[in-house]
Amino acid sequence: MSVATLDTALPPSLAERLDEDKRQAVSETPRARRMVELAAALGEPEAQVMEQVAALSGLPIATNLHADMEAMRLFPARLVNDYQMVPIMSAEQVAAAEAAAKDDAPPAVVEDGETPAAPAGPLLVATAWPPDSMMLEWIGTFTTRPIVWHLGLPDKIHQIIIDRFGVGSGSLDDDDAYELEQTQEDAADDVDEDAAVVRFVTEVITQAVSDEATDIHFEPQETQLRIRYRVDGLLVHVPVPDNLRKFQDAIISRVKIMSKLNISEKRLPQDGRITFRAGGAVLDIRVSTLPTIYAESISLRLLNKKKDSYATMEKLGMNANEQAQINEVLDYPHGIILVTGPTGSGKSTTLNAFLRKINSTDLRIITAEDPIEYEVPGVNQTQVKPEIGLTFASALRSMLRQDPDVIMVGEIRDRDTADIAVRASLTGHLVFSTLHTNDAPGAITRLVDMGIEPFLVASAIELVLAQRLVRRLCTCAALKPISQVKLRESLSVLHVDHAEAANITALKAPVGCDRCRGTGYRGRVGVFEIFRLNNDEIHELVLKRESTQALAECARRHGMVALEHSAWDKVKSGLTTLDEVLRIITVA
Ligand SMILES: [Zn+2]
Repeated sequence: MSVATLDTALPPSLAERLDEDKRQAVSETPRARRMVELAAALGEPEAQVMEQVAALSGLPIATNLHADMEAMRLFPARLVNDYQMVPIMSAEQVAAAEAAAKDDAPPAVVEDGETPAAPAGPLLVATAWPPDSMMLEWIGTFTTRPIVWHLGLPDKIHQIIIDRFGVGSGSLDDDDAYELEQTQEDAADDVDEDAAVVRFVTEVITQAVSDEATDIHFEPQETQLRIRYRVDGLLVHVPVPDNLRKFQDAIISRVKIMSKLNISEKRLPQDGRITFRAGGAVLDIRVSTLPTIYAESISLRLLNKKKDSYATMEKLGMNANEQAQINEVLDYPHGIILVTGPTGSGKSTTLNAFLRKINSTDLRIITAEDPIEYEVPGVNQTQVKPEIGLTFASALRSMLRQDPDVIMVGEIRDRDTADIAVRASLTGHLVFSTLHTNDAPGAITRLVDMGIEPFLVASAIELVLAQRLVRRLCTCAALKPISQVKLRESLSVLHVDHAEAANITALKAPVGCDRCRGTGYRGRVGVFEIFRLNNDEIHELVLKRESTQALAECARRHGMVALEHSAWDKVKSGLTTLDEVLRIITVA
């Protein structure tokens, strides 16, 4: 059987189309990413470039990749990772497997310790780039079966490898049977292991960035080092190599070294930070350690400083009416604008969108934040440091001596901060801040409870925005019928009038595709409630120290759309689902 190989870094006819710099850059790109780089260099879609490479190298393209897990065992993790190759099932095998699954036929069972009769036929393998002869030699040492090579989309192949072996499995493979030629130099074992751990930690962070995770948690358990990401507000288990526990101490030390922490201090919590470069983006990572019964648990919070990562009101999911109400008060010369919601509801992202909206050379804007999540050009941003006495309150006091027009203070937590914020507003400043309350009217009663005089609250506060983040349906979502019973039950929980259900027989539901990793959701969208103190009746209620419920009820009569109703609007328009809304809104 003749095997197509490609022993030059690039097919000559494609190389000719690139200038010298690009040709060299693409040639030096590891095979895992070379197709992607080549497509970018040529300015053509990846699938189209893959077709050209396939034609030039004589390899067929495998479009619908189904990993052959049995055959996968033939090869060590590091080999599979380095060469980005995956044994796949033929169309007949896929059809047979699907038919078996449909018939509920018992799967062919392989008894423990018994070697299944090795299929003698050719082995189908998909790879991200045509193999060279060195690669064929290596692979020949693991199987004698003839191999039929296919090209496959690099991202799909990478995903299959992660699902099978875990993130970073190529770094920590301790199978000595296979060593790449460049590591055959007599490197001392421990040095080699250190390098592997460094590579592993980098891969875990890089994968988190590409999955758009906000946090990474390293959690030592009794028998395993568990790694989880937080993506769109939910924890996602990260598949890891089986032998990870062996490297636990080295991994924890590595993260501590990267964050400039004291690696010998294991009994006390520590905080540090890492500046991490991935692709074009610079990431600011906040690191914290906490001693747990098995070892230190380490959490990384990823703050993306990429310029295009900030949100606008529109991107946050505000409708035209909501934007209009907010834009009106953003034009006021003074007053307090508050954003409320639980931790992780995106309060600082929203405040940041407000800041960007009004940011201009005519305004002097000063902030006190913890942490500074987004840098805003032209704005004077201060990181508070309570441990040296620079609290929100003390920062705010100093900011007022700095001739500001607009002030943003990360959070109003105490009487002191609230006092100064109110005074700043009444002396002609626009003040942005956040408060930890469930709904918007609750912010008023909270400030009164803190000891601020009701008449001061009523005259200083202009607008309170309560918000939550719900997962946004991916573009793969489809309309599905919904039962009237379930719909009415859900509307009752949301305090939405049953009449709303009248003409609705179907709602968009999650499906799952590659873009959303099969979850059916991708990214998040905000749900809002806007409370204004712009009529006498509400002012009156505030002065009389009325309850949150009384304030809310009055505001609704004057047109406030309650958080729950606003969430239902997002469901109706197909942005999210009832399940998601019920999960987020009702746990408040
Ligand atoms: Zn999808």
